[in-house]
Amino acid sequence: MTTAGLADRYGRVATDLRVSLTDRCNLRCNYCMPVEGLPWLPSSVVLTDDEVIRLVRVAVERLGVDEVRFTGGEPLIRPGLVKIVAAAAELSPRPRLSLTTNGIGLDRLARPLREAGLDRVNVSLDTLDGERFERLAHRRRLPDVLAGLSAARAAGLTPVKINSVLMRDINADEAPALLRFALAEGYQLRFIEQMPLDAQHAWDRTRMITAAEILAGLEAEFKLLPDPAERGGAPAETWLVDGFTEPDGSPAKVGVIGSVTRPFCGDCDRTRLTADGQVRNCLFAREESDLRGALRGGATDEEIADRWRAAMWTKRAGHGIDDPKFLQPARPMSAIGG
Ligand code: SAM
Ligand code: SF4
Repeated sequence: MTTAGLADRYGRVATDLRVSLTDRCNLRCNYCMPVEGLPWLPSSVVLTDDEVIRLVRVAVERLGVDEVRFTGGEPLIRPGLVKIVAAAAELSPRPRLSLTTNGIGLDRLARPLREAGLDRVNVSLDTLDGERFERLAHRRRLPDVLAGLSAARAAGLTPVKINSVLMRDINADEAPALLRFALAEGYQLRFIEQMPLDAQHAWDRTRMITAAEILAGLEAEFKLLPDPAERGGAPAETWLVDGFTEPDGSPAKVGVIGSVTRPFCGDCDRTRLTADGQVRNCLFAREESDLRGALRGGATDEEIADRWRAAMWTKRAGHGIDDPKFLQPARPMSAIGG
């Protein structure tokens, strides 16, 4: 059985679409990709700009999607990004449009993206120390990321959010410094627990930095107060940072996404499209549904919408990381789209 929107049998309805625009990247973050990179998708299977635009249109016009986030791999290295954003901004009803990026190149692209209709960005930044950045991401690009962040703020892609992943032995002690930086610069910081989505399969539950540890680290320096705002489908639990305000005068917040120790699967409202046109109903799904084949085989918009609905209907209740039978998905985070 299916319904008009992207419902599943547990009563959740997906309205938030994550589109991966490429599986390639110019960094090699330890928790995501091996230093030598990965066998990239051949360009023949990567959706063209027009194919991406068509699928986003089907999602918005027929399936009730009201928020589209472009990600990857690194979406800023996709040549057609500005064109794709502009086309998505023309849709009716107009979806909210955001981008998750490592920030490299954003100094150049922030303004054209804003002019094309992008609303917001999330920039990934795990450390403020150049030597640690190189250990973590295997490239000397910290200054580019910082330049990208300030260009995003200057272009009005606000609120500019920062995503940080902490790793033991590299940047585990950096939570307070990252928050100090975000508060001083007017960025909104959220920590993400490291998930078993690295291509190397090196994730180890006993070594990951938990949400509780992140909060304890922050509370050594800051007073955190419960956030009275409704969480809704948002993955981040948020706290108010006592004594600090956002650039607009509202109380400053910090978020923690406890994907592993505080899962939010019951409220998940996401659907995902990979760069090669596969629908995934969960980051941790082990099955995908092929829309590229349908698209290239001449399917109508309604046939594509039907496939998408069917793919979402089978979404599991939860990711099951704590289940002894848990199996990491075959594709790593960079190929799924984070
Ligand atoms: N390259 C872009 C970036 O880094 O923002 C977009 C893609 S990246 C896969 C999206 C987000 O996933 C980033 O914030 C990154 O830190 C996060 N991420 C990647 N691997 C992860 C993992 N194993 N656990 C938790 N978060 C992860
Ligand atoms: Fe690239 Fe983003 Fe993965 Fe880092 S997390 S390797 S920036 S895709």
